[in-house]
Amino acid sequence: VVGLVDTHTHLFEKSLLEESEEIQRRCLDEGVVAAVLPNIDLETIADIKSYQAIDGFEIKKLMGLHPSSVNSDSITSDLKVIEREIGSRIYDGIGEIGIDLYWDKSHQEAQEKAFVTQCNWAVEMDLAVSIHSRDATDLCIDLIKKEVKPGLKGVFHCFTGSVEQARLIMDMGMYLGIGGVVTFMNAKLRDVVKSVGLEQVVFETDSPYLAPHPHRGKRNESSYLRLIAGHVSEHLEIPLDEVVKTSSKNARQLFFG
Ligand SMILES: [Zn+2]
Repeated sequence: VVGLVDTHTHLFEKSLLEESEEIQRRCLDEGVVAAVLPNIDLETIADIKSYQAIDGFEIKKLMGLHPSSVNSDSITSDLKVIEREIGSRIYDGIGEIGIDLYWDKSHQEAQEKAFVTQCNWAVEMDLAVSIHSRDATDLCIDLIKKEVKPGLKGVFHCFTGSVEQARLIMDMGMYLGIGGVVTFMNAKLRDVVKSVGLEQVVFETDSPYLAPHPHRGKRNESSYLRLIAGHVSEHLEIPLDEVVKTSSKNARQLFFG
């Protein structure tokens, strides 16, 4: 089986960078042929820009400001830097962006502003977004409906919500990013995916974080995407080929325009 696309992986992160070529080769060995790299903050811009694909491996890069890197004091100037980057037209989407109220609620207003602003850039430039929402999925859905121009496309990355939330996201024409959590013991996410199906699902590792079973707790890498796809194939009783085909078609529609 070939052709898996990892729609969310930080291959440019320091812990993965030194093994960059080996990791990409292991990806190809496991049938993972492409990856989407979302930016995090201003410090990672240089790393993401200089990251290079080996022959046969395809890479798309997203630019955006991660919600946990949004600071009320510097939001205006930070967004200016991001806007200038996106304006250079070397990116294939905007991310990762969103709202994270798990670690820190003190910058919520600034996070909302950064999220809405970057979503609107995406609509204006016809780019897809990669959304990070933690303790804030309903809020993100609400903001998109009320404050973002119509026509936003993209993915709720690392989706772990309910069937109801999944349907709200799908009704907006957006996608669910399913990662390693789906392989964990007793993951209710498996049943959520089973009830909504794969039509609006893409796969991701979020490496180096969130390694799937049996690597849980260790450094994650994009080649493990095969384990995630295999797990979903088994649980939904859909042949792996079909799982790969549907998820990759979705991923390519979003970020490989
Ligand atoms: Zn991420």
